[in-house]
Amino acid sequence: MADHPASPLDPATIAVTTGRPKPAPDAPVNPPVVFSSTFHADGEVSYARVGNPTWTAFEDAVGALEGGDALAFSSGMAAVTAVLSLVPVGGTVLAPQHSYNTTSALLRQRAEAGLLSVRQVDLHEPSVSEDPATFDGADLVLIESPTNPMMEVADIAAITAAGHAAGALIACDNTFATPLLQRPLDDGVDVVLHSATKALSGHSDVLLGVTITPSNGAGRARGEHLHEHRNLAGSIPGPMEAWLGLRGLRTLSVRVERSAASAKTIAERAARHPAVSRVRYPGFGSMLAIEIAGGAAAAERVCSATSVWIHSTSLGGVESQLERRRRHPLEVETVPESLIRLSVGIEHVEDLWTDLDRALNGA
Ligand SMILES: *Cc1c(COP(=O)(O)O)cnc(C)c1O
Repeated sequence: MADHPASPLDPATIAVTTGRPKPAPDAPVNPPVVFSSTFHADGEVSYARVGNPTWTAFEDAVGALEGGDALAFSSGMAAVTAVLSLVPVGGTVLAPQHSYNTTSALLRQRAEAGLLSVRQVDLHEPSVSEDPATFDGADLVLIESPTNPMMEVADIAAITAAGHAAGALIACDNTFATPLLQRPLDDGVDVVLHSATKALSGHSDVLLGVTITPSNGAGRARGEHLHEHRNLAGSIPGPMEAWLGLRGLRTLSVRVERSAASAKTIAERAARHPAVSRVRYPGFGSMLAIEIAGGAAAAERVCSATSVWIHSTSLGGVESQLERRRRHPLEVETVPESLIRLSVGIEHVEDLWTDLDRALNGA
């Protein structure tokens, strides 16, 4: 669909080679961090709410990985908000039952204000996503796959086809899978978004969001709308944040390879641990969830008993993190009380397992 040929390079190479200054003798290898609120007149940008060369470097790299045109935002939620600006007032948004909790809260707030109608359904269930009535009247279908923290996997291509047949626009939050494991634009999705705070940046040192739209006619027009939204809403990242995002992105493939291999090992071993009643592992990626047989209190004890795993919210960093999701008041009630979300980092897998095993034994 893109009107430029697909890059012949592997994504691991794209993550390293894109977003660099043009080669010239003594040109820097890395883009500079451009701290300037204004630019000399008569150019295309003129003011730093409109554009910044450090954002552009980050956007070029993410766009090449997802196969479209990227726009950087101040956070993942700023990217979600930008995508919602594509829905007309009074329009209908279809989202997963287990949408990211803050996305659900935003949808609820807008619905209560009368701005949107929201339907949250089990999009990963074929009985739901194969029923054309599911998509009746939807203006936007927001896919998340795997979902946070339930790890449900949706058939993105099938949902996109059914949503398009009903006249809806399709967006996909690709934060959990990363473009290395899933490229929703290839399945016909209209807008991909990320909390780049997570795996793309990868070091838990920055908040950043990004949207990606196809580089074709309709995609370009939507990209322009999102750019206009970012400019009018002012939901722009700082240049240092964009630089950190790009710096983190350089190592995305080695981080994802290592942490995904460790996540698989931990999922297999956790399934055999007597303190664990259920493992939710989608079969790929760095994220999984476990349910603790002893309930919420036992799950809290596990989270506070680890020393390699960090007890904290967020995910996708080089450091492994865990938390009981229902400790957050915003988390939906269908997420089990004893569910612990695990974000696997790049530490040695045996150290991770020894630490988790010891904490589970104490539960
Ligand atoms: C964290 C997260 C967000 C929100 O991103 P922020 O950068 O925290 O604003 C959105 N979607 C998913 C799946 C997330 O994990």
